[in-house]
Formats: sequence, structure tokens, C-alpha cells
Amino acid sequence: MRKPILFPTAVPSPLPIAPHAESLTLEWNPGRYVLIHPDCMERMSRYATRPERELEAGGIFLGSYRGPHIEISAITEPMPGDRRGRYVFDRRDPGHQTAAKSAWTKSRNTTTFTGEWHTHPEDVPTPSGIDLGTWRGLMKKSKEPLVFIILGWSGNWYGIGHERRILPARPV
Ligand SMILES: [Zn+2]
Repeated sequence: MRKPILFPTAVPSPLPIAPHAESLTLEWNPGRYVLIHPDCMERMSRYATRPERELEAGGIFLGSYRGPHIEISAITEPMPGDRRGRYVFDRRDPGHQTAAKSAWTKSRNTTTFTGEWHTHPEDVPTPSGIDLGTWRGLMKKSKEPLVFIILGWSGNWYGIGHERRILPARPV
């Protein structure tokens, strides 16, 4: 299927993009898309493959709201103060929040926190009760939609939290 071209400008990435990495476009409501830059996909995917996949990992999304759409241009990755376990990832390191603040300032208030991602040690992941609780907490603090992704070993779970609901999103 042809991918719709929605975003006229790409935010330059500070890091080289792996040649095989592809961007991902999600649709969560008719005509509402999330574009995730290829280097973000590449970086997250590393944590869902061996040896990293043995422990859960996660981080936040940094991106911008473009009309009805969301463009994710950067992620944070596990930091030393986070708790990584076989069945837990606790984003405790204040560095994630610092990265969001820094991105906001550097972008002149356009790049902001747009959601979060983490991995699960299972083939096809689904959100846990803890995940849903955490996301609802984040949604209370955000008027804009938030993107939630869980990466598994052979598939990912995509959702958008908006107006107190968590809606599944599908790749297009
Ligand atoms: Zn989870």
C-alpha cells in the first residue's frame, strides 16, 4: 500500500539512520496519522531483539503536533537510573524529562512529549493493567493525543490515548 505523504518537512536527526530502517505511519482515526521517523524505529527495535530483549526497556517519544497528525522525531532510551527487569520497566531516571524539556526549548516550543514506548518479553504484546494505569495518568496531564507503543519479539502493539480513551492504531 502506498504511504500517504503528510509531512512536508522532516526534522533533521542528529544520528545516522541505519540503511534498512523504515519510517512507520499509523492511522488511529480516519485521516489522523502518526509518523515515526526511521531512526526512532531502528533504536526501539534494538531493544526487542537479543540480547537486549531479555530485559524490558523503554523511553519517551519526542515529536510535534501537526494539525490532526503527530510526527515523532526522536525517542529516549533506557538510562542508568531506570529499572529494567524481566517483566518490568520503570522509567525512573529524570533524564527522560530533561530530554523533553531540552527538545522543547531547542525547537522553540514545537517538539514536546508525545507518548512513550516499552518492550515486553513476548511474541505479540498486549498492554498490562499497569500499562493502562500509567497511560491514563499521562493522559490526564495532556490535552493532545499521546502515542503508546509496546514492542514484542515478533509484533508490536500500537495505541493512541485521547480524551480518556485508548484507541488501537494500525500501520498503513
Ligand atoms: Zn507493559
